[in-house]
Amino acid sequence: MKFLKVDKVSKAYSGNEKPAVSDLAFSMKRGEIVSFVGASGSGKSTLLKLIGGLISLDKGTIHFQGKEIEEPENKLIPGEEGIKMVFQDLRLMPNHTVEENIKYPLLLFDKGYQNDRTEELLGVCHLQAFRKRLPRELSGGQQQRLALAKTLAEEPELLLMDEPFSNLDPIVKSKLIVDVSEIIRNQGLSLIMVTHDTQDALMLSDKIGFMSEGKLVQYASPLNIYNKPKSIDIAAFFGTINIFDSHEVQQFSGENLEIAEYQRIVIRAESFRTSFESGMLKLEGVVQGSFFKGAKYLIRLKVGNRLVTMYANEMIKNGVRIKFYVDRHNLVAI
Ligand code: ADP
Repeated sequence: MKFLKVDKVSKAYSGNEKPAVSDLAFSMKRGEIVSFVGASGSGKSTLLKLIGGLISLDKGTIHFQGKEIEEPENKLIPGEEGIKMVFQDLRLMPNHTVEENIKYPLLLFDKGYQNDRTEELLGVCHLQAFRKRLPRELSGGQQQRLALAKTLAEEPELLLMDEPFSNLDPIVKSKLIVDVSEIIRNQGLSLIMVTHDTQDALMLSDKIGFMSEGKLVQYASPLNIYNKPKSIDIAAFFGTINIFDSHEVQQFSGENLEIAEYQRIVIRAESFRTSFESGMLKLEGVVQGSFFKGAKYLIRLKVGNRLVTMYANEMIKNGVRIKFYVDRHNLVAI
């Protein structure tokens, strides 16, 4: 039995001609972290709401632990027990302290359990020092952690998060990402999140789903979606790419690659090297510009009549002719 199985699900909002989600299928295992990425409007939030049982679907089925998710209309409180959403607007109780916010979902339990579980969640989400504060007295990252603690108090098995780390500054964000993934893994939970940040998705996920116009175009591990993207759009979504025709790569490298003619070849900017190793293709180009990017320099080169983008460790002066190299494994035929 699959932990979650989404089967041929479609959903169109009333008044919209195009479905927001179309014939979409995937499954996930317990304990996995799954991210959905894609352009704005591609149907990611709609998918999350369908899984959460918050909106009704037109076609298909969603099974959670073997049980079909019910339409919200058939339930007193919409949503599936065991599946809980951390909303983007956090939904904290503004006039209650951190402690009270976490305790609220636990009020039906006995006092001893309430206190123990609240203590545990304060610890898990690193909020002990702020227990007496009101939500508005917390930083953005602390507020996000409180929303997570409050949702965890409801004992979900599957957490849903819609753009969980947006509106946070980069330093807070990267710390929170690590915190959240540790919490999920340590508590034995599963997570589906929607994000526009490809770095978050690559770092955190066991599987990434790329959506376009309501369809799930690729569902794969971070390594596979990065190294074997199914489309140019997916390749471009995960970094700076160069797109060639196969005959151009053969012409520039002077080698017969035995790739179908006029097949498109994608080479990522970070796949190029400035030193040779055996088996690599050799290319030559004239530097047009070096741009400092922190960890690396982004170099623009003229190769034949083509502009190529690569990363290098050092800046290279304009007009210098350089040799550069790429491993055959890093040629992505699409
Ligand atoms: P994403 O999360 O990828 O940005 P959404 O799931 O929010 O995409 O939206 C998918 C499509 O459905 C978009 O075209 C959007 O305009 C439309 N849509 C989303 N919510 C509603 C709604 N409540 N009513 C009508 N159309 C909607």
